[in-house]
Amino acid sequence: MASELRLFAGACTTTFEGTRSRTQHGYVVVLVKPDDTVLVHDADGYQPVAWLTRPDEASVETTCDGTDTAHGGFTITAQTGDQRLTVESHGEGTVRTFPIGEAGVPVGECVATDCEGTLARTGGDVACVDCGERYGLPAGATVLDRQCDDCGLPQIRVDRGETFEVCLDYTCESLNDRIRERYDRAFDCPDCGSDLRIRVTDGRPFFGCEGYPDCETAFSIPAGVVVGLCDCGLPVFETATGRRCLDGTCDSYLE
Ligand SMILES: [Zn+2]
Ligand SMILES: [Zn+2]
Ligand SMILES: [Zn+2]
Ligand SMILES: [Zn+2]
Repeated sequence: MASELRLFAGACTTTFEGTRSRTQHGYVVVLVKPDDTVLVHDADGYQPVAWLTRPDEASVETTCDGTDTAHGGFTITAQTGDQRLTVESHGEGTVRTFPIGEAGVPVGECVATDCEGTLARTGGDVACVDCGERYGLPAGATVLDRQCDDCGLPQIRVDRGETFEVCLDYTCESLNDRIRERYDRAFDCPDCGSDLRIRVTDGRPFFGCEGYPDCETAFSIPAGVVVGLCDCGLPVFETATGRRCLDGTCDSYLE
């Protein structure tokens, strides 16, 4: 979902106090991001002449309301510890506000009603840049260039014992159900011999002993594929960081 970027332009004096104190004067453009990051740009190159990233405190004073194009004086201050950035306009400057959001790798089209926005992957989420509809991604998931037959969203590929390909939207197709179909009762508890069930807490699946609460044995499911069995009877996973027993504390399996 878009938030607001505030842009200030005009002749300004920029003062940076801190490790490398300096004062500059000239026609500049100042960006104040939604996270309060302040960037002061002049005519040259890509690098700001002064900046403070995600300051502890930031404030803007203007003699205009700044909701649309407006003219007036402005003073911007930002501070983190003993680093302090001040930008003060001389006479009238221009103040504008723009919508701004996260930019990510495009992975498909939004399927929300009346939205034709683009879905973009940003970190651990896929979100529509227009309506803000958001889908969490399981750790290690790959977004595929292929749509779900039912809803049109992209499919994702996730390694959880085997490689599953499911809809991005878990309410359309549940990865946890697929994992349950495949691995419920597939292995025995190494402590009491009961079946290991697939259980889900906070949306995350794990192996939990059927004997619970008498037996509290439980294992999270590594992001990897099963490549064999450990001497302890549990599966061995091939993960991005190497092979390991489902039981991360098991020392029967040593490569
Ligand atoms: Zn949308
Ligand atoms: Zn779907
Ligand atoms: Zn058990
Ligand atoms: Zn083991």
